[in-house]
Amino acid sequence: MRHFVLVGSGIAALSAAEAIRGVDASARITLASDEPGPFYSRPGLAYLLAGALPERQLSIRSRADVSALRIERIDARVHQVFPALHEVRFTDGRVLGYDRLLIATGASSIAPGFPGADLDGVVGLDGVDDARALVTRAKKARTAVVVGGGSTAIELAEGLQARGVETHYFLRGDRYWARVLDPEESALVEAGVSRTRVTMHRRTEIVRALGRNGRVVAVETNRGDALKCQLIAVAIGVRPRVTLAREAGLEVDRGIVVNERMETSAVDVYAAGDVAQVFDPVLGRAVLDTLWSAAMEQGRAAGLNMAGMPTVFHRHVALNVTRLADIITTVIGDVGGIDDPDLITITRGQSEAWSGAGTGISVVRHDASDRIRIHLNGRTILGAVIMGDQALSLPLTRIIAERVDITPIRDALVERPEALASTLLDFWHSLHPWEHAPYDHHARLAH
Ligand SMILES: Cc1cc2nc3c(=O)[nH]c(=O)nc-3n(C[C@H](O)[C@H](O)[C@H](O)COP(=O)(O)OP(=O)(O)OC[C@H]3O[C@@H](n4cnc5c(N)ncnc54)[C@H](O)[C@@H]3O)c2cc1C
Repeated sequence: MRHFVLVGSGIAALSAAEAIRGVDASARITLASDEPGPFYSRPGLAYLLAGALPERQLSIRSRADVSALRIERIDARVHQVFPALHEVRFTDGRVLGYDRLLIATGASSIAPGFPGADLDGVVGLDGVDDARALVTRAKKARTAVVVGGGSTAIELAEGLQARGVETHYFLRGDRYWARVLDPEESALVEAGVSRTRVTMHRRTEIVRALGRNGRVVAVETNRGDALKCQLIAVAIGVRPRVTLAREAGLEVDRGIVVNERMETSAVDVYAAGDVAQVFDPVLGRAVLDTLWSAAMEQGRAAGLNMAGMPTVFHRHVALNVTRLADIITTVIGDVGGIDDPDLITITRGQSEAWSGAGTGISVVRHDASDRIRIHLNGRTILGAVIMGDQALSLPLTRIIAERVDITPIRDALVERPEALASTLLDFWHSLHPWEHAPYDHHARLAH
């Protein structure tokens, strides 16, 4: 009987376990994680923080589904991996042998660098423990400051505000999430944030956090102001948890480097999810994603390969559907983002593939409530940002993923941006006469 050891209890490890069990009914599967509790939706944490969902609704598998997997679960932290011995060691000294190992340790928030960042009350949002702690802290805090970019920063700001905490969102630069959004898109989100009564401060950063008895009581800003606050929530980027792999001598770049079968540089050791750096054939380089769907697909491919069913992982177009200040926003492929002073690395729910080679032009259609931007080069659409009405989400995802030659409509798109939606929909119907375009992407948020 082969023994598969999976490190982590996120969607990548779970998908790998399901894939292994699907292929090998008799395998021994051990899942080791320092995060006890049921499998849950990490993107759903924002809803928990805002009070929009109870914790039990974050669960992503029923008890019956989990017990059918027949996993041996070890709630402990893996401290070392010994690829030559085919063993892992836990922090409590236990040693466990494996035939095949998956490292699916995810990514963690980067700690801020300002003096006082180690005070009690400076927090991030990585897991359900953090969300619970934030809910508790929000009951006592009057004022909070949020720093960072991307969807997590907004989710933190809106969540705290929804819990009755007066919330200030500091942006280092002039606008929100410049790495992904164009200036108008940023402005739409910022207007939405302001409507929630979160106060935005542009070109503002914390120079130090001030404390009393080890707790945050105020921040000093680069503008010379001081603002009293009891909480500082930080979302300035995430880094893959690569320590185990690096110390085991595996090839590590920004993440654990894997080939198209999710194999690392060590025999019988695989990696998947936020921790893995995966080759993108379109971009011609290996990239990091912090996307739920990517982690799920990678975990599944890793599991199949571990169980002896050769499977090439085809990197899909990087896609996320999220709510930014109540505007449903889909980001697909390379959208030509620029540098973002609010983020040190990528943030949650983002892909390095969204900032491509810097080529291409943008065409925009904008009416009162909806906005579509496509980013295109000579013959293909590289990426898109769709805000509001999502009727074009599916067609655009497919057109981008399949690198459809858009030569027949390119001139029309560029010359008549106001007709962009109908031009694309007509083109889509001509390619797929039997498919309906509208697609409820938002349902995917339930994960
Ligand atoms: C607040 C938030 C919002 C998000 N929003 C979105 C979104 O809108 N869209 C989207 O696509 N994605 C979003 N994401 C990202 C998405 O959740 C991740 O891409 C996905 O969960 C990654 O899964 P994973 O299995 O690779 O890693 P994780 O889910 O991070 O799981 C890793 C697990 O490994 C455990 N672990 C780490 N080291 C060890 C060790 N040494 N020993 C034992 N266990 C260990 C960790 O405790 C954890 O349980 C969001 C994430 C967060 C936190």
